Amino acid sequence: MENTLKDKLSENINICSNPSELKITDIRVTNINGAPKHCPLIKIYTNQGIVGYGEVRDASSATYALMLKSRIVGENPCNVDKLFRRIKQFGGHSRQGGGVSGIEIALWDLAGKAWGVPLWQMLGGKFRDKIRMYADTDVDGKHTGIDMGKAIKKRIDNGYTFAKMDLGIELMLDEPGCLNAPLGFLDDIKKYSMKAINHQKGSIDMDMMMGKNYETFTIPHHATGIHITQKGLDYLENYIREVRSVIGYEIPLAIDHFGHVSIEDCIMFAKRIEKYNIAWIEDIAPWHYTSHFVKMANNCNIPLCTGEDIYLAENFEPLLSSGGVGVVHPDVLTIGGALELKKLSNMCDKYGVAMAIHMAESPVGCMAAIHCAAAAQNVLAVEFHSTDVPWWNDLAVGIDNPLVVNGFAKVPDKPGLGIDELNEELISQHIHDKYPGQWLPTTAWDNEWANDREWS
Ligand SMILES: [Mg+2]
Repeated sequence: MENTLKDKLSENINICSNPSELKITDIRVTNINGAPKHCPLIKIYTNQGIVGYGEVRDASSATYALMLKSRIVGENPCNVDKLFRRIKQFGGHSRQGGGVSGIEIALWDLAGKAWGVPLWQMLGGKFRDKIRMYADTDVDGKHTGIDMGKAIKKRIDNGYTFAKMDLGIELMLDEPGCLNAPLGFLDDIKKYSMKAINHQKGSIDMDMMMGKNYETFTIPHHATGIHITQKGLDYLENYIREVRSVIGYEIPLAIDHFGHVSIEDCIMFAKRIEKYNIAWIEDIAPWHYTSHFVKMANNCNIPLCTGEDIYLAENFEPLLSSGGVGVVHPDVLTIGGALELKKLSNMCDKYGVAMAIHMAESPVGCMAAIHCAAAAQNVLAVEFHSTDVPWWNDLAVGIDNPLVVNGFAKVPDKPGLGIDELNEELISQHIHDKYPGQWLPTTAWDNEWANDREWS
């Protein structure tokens, strides 16, 4: 009788790990390409055989994760917040946030596997059992609003319930009289930056962002001197009218990648398109110019959205408290990970702001986003960039396949991220040609050290 009771009890106890004695022993990375972009994947190894999966933000560098190795080896990965506070100082905005964030996610994956609970449970439980996904839609090259409408219609026919499209001023570079700029500058853009602007089908890579190309592409919106003429505004308005004529008015439609023009021109554009029911306009200005967002928010009736490049929840607060945004758009792999995203969601509740989650990563980053979206009340939808990558889903073994069905992804009940293992053979077929090797030793990072105390 005693034995039976003991057996019964042990069925409910996770005996594959002794969480209090769990220790990190190693961190290794593998860079793959095309999933949909350059994805640096992370494994954190432990003394109990369980491995945590993480990922550095899309189109970023594994170095941002590897430099943290010596700071967390020997520590218990279940102490996620404690370790996060130790490495937080090594994160930065945009891709620089990817190392800290990717490690944070891998720690949660280990904690979940060690204790036998899914990530969403550790964040406080879930608000929903399936997550609405939206597929950002772009049409390559010169095209019309009708073409874009048809591309979005295809998404809708596949079950998607929320639409977003790229709409940028580059469509007008060859339309006489639609744009003006210091003479010669538009020619520079056409020559050097077109690939960088029209990057959606692939990854922005090193070659694309060197030399004059980098210089041109990194001029902030307000300093390009580009303006949109009335003819240009007519052109853009007609484009959106055409899109709506194909997809109708019942589905939300957001706009991204407008272009590098001054906020005043953006306001004129927004006023023109209010009547087409736009769900949000994304990254209309560099996110850190709070006053630009506030000025535009006060002068149009379309929600403004930004956040995929913001590191830490606290850095969203100026935009939220000033009323500059109606929707935030964090990337779990830039903001600092799952707990920072949860903190941002709480902050949004304070200011009355909705959230969509940016995601252009492998199934590792995607599962992290799905767990976070389950655990945050104000989430509208999670972005999905890999509808056209046939092998994407197979990278992670143990997740739903297909993961997105009729525009939704189920929230898994499995421990951690819900990934059983990575598909190593498939990974070996997609290693980034500039960063060869699959989970190679990282001993070169064992003695990376600085006096990390940020005060004296
Ligand atoms: Mg975006």
